[in-house]
Formats: sequence, C-alpha cells, structure tokens
Amino acid sequence: MDNCIFCKIIRHEIPSYCLYENDDVMAFLDVNPTSYGHCLVVCKKHYKNITECDKKTLDAMIEAVQAISKALLKTYACGLNVLSNINEVAGQSVMHAHIHLIPVNKDGNKANIQFNELKDVPLKEIYDNIIKNI
Ligand code: 5GP
Ligand code: ZN
Repeated sequence: MDNCIFCKIIRHEIPSYCLYENDDVMAFLDVNPTSYGHCLVVCKKHYKNITECDKKTLDAMIEAVQAISKALLKTYACGLNVLSNINEVAGQSVMHAHIHLIPVNKDGNKANIQFNELKDVPLKEIYDNIIKNI
C-alpha cells in the first residue's frame, strides 16, 4: 500500500534495524521502544490486522515471533510480552498487521523507557546485541 509506513519499511524505502526477513515476514526494532529490544514482526502483504491475514502469512508471523522471541530471551535473559493491538481503540496506530515483542524486567534492560529518554535509546547497539543471537 502506497502510504503505509510498514509497507515502506518492507520495500526498504524507509530504513529500519531489520533483524529477520523472508518472503512473508520481516522483523525490525520499534523506533519508539517501550523497552530495550522492543521488536515488531510484520507481514509483507498489507493486511489491516492479524484477524485478516491468510493462514500462510499467519503461520510465517508466528514462526518469526518464536525465532525472535528466542533471540530476545537469550540476549536479555528477560521475560517477554507478545501482543498485537487491533483497532485504534485498542491502541493500534499503524494499520498494517504486526506483533509486538516487548522484553520486560531485566537488570540493565529498562522495562519502561521514559518519554524523555526516547531520543537517547541506542538502537544500533541494541540491534548489534540481538542480531548475534539470531
Ligand atoms: P501500534 O501502536 O500500531 O500497535 O504499533 C505501531 C508501532 O510502530 C509503534 O510502537 C511505533 O513506535 C512503531 N513505529 C511507527 N513508525 C515506525 C517507523 O517508521 N519505524 C519503526 N521501526 N517503527 C515505527
Ligand atoms: Zn502496509
């Protein structure tokens, strides 16, 4: 879709810290993370949310969620919240199906990054740490 931000990331028109990619899915760091290592798994076809995805796409997303989750657990020895916001009322801001992977509760990993810290989040360093475990 032309004006969808995730479609632009998938087409590599907008840069991202891409951790994983195959024909069906892509995983990259969230640019405004809730915690260090906050990732998004998105499908390459433009679907509005996960309830609309075809089975092949959904299977590929879940496989990627599993693989990236393992890498995050290894990187941060943390817990993880895996979630998908559906519709604006539930907090969905990008209308392209995606699943959040949010590391929580680890010393050295901030469960909640404060708003005024967002500009200082070292995405490159976070990326380098996670990619080693994928
Ligand atoms: P939602 O609010 O729709 O559940 O999640 C959308 C997520 O996409 C948000 O956490 C937001 O920070 C992230 N996001 C929005 N625009 C971009 C972008 O251009 N690049 C990346 N990497 N993440 C983005
Ligand atoms: Zn899209």
